[in-house]
Amino acid sequence: MDSEEVDKASSPKILVVEDNQDNREMVVKVLKFNGYQVVEAVDGEEAIEKARTEYPDLILLDIFLPKMDGYEATRRLKGDTSLRNIPIIALTAHAMKGSMEEALAAGCDGYIPKPIDVRELPKQIQHFLKPRP
Ligand code: MN
Repeated sequence: MDSEEVDKASSPKILVVEDNQDNREMVVKVLKFNGYQVVEAVDGEEAIEKARTEYPDLILLDIFLPKMDGYEATRRLKGDTSLRNIPIIALTAHAMKGSMEEALAAGCDGYIPKPIDVRELPKQIQHFLKPRP
């Protein structure tokens, strides 16, 4: 369990947007353990700020967020020519019928159903990360 040895400069940077602290900490822990760089945001507005300043390789975006929900954040990110190439993966609750479809309609590149399977998460992220030049 030594993620310190991972080459931080070359590992992909993931922006984790999640207002629920327990969920966020769990996802961040799994990502760091798997060698990813992680940036965090707790609401939709902060998600957009961090996307602009950190330019992550991928965004994991909770849908139900304070200030601005994940659908609106996605529309704004995908409407920004400098950010639209960053893959956005919505974190959608199973119970919420239609949320996956709405996430894709808003411009998300994919979704991961909640509750998150921590063993599957790294594979799911790998699938959506663009190959690096
Ligand atoms: Mn939420």
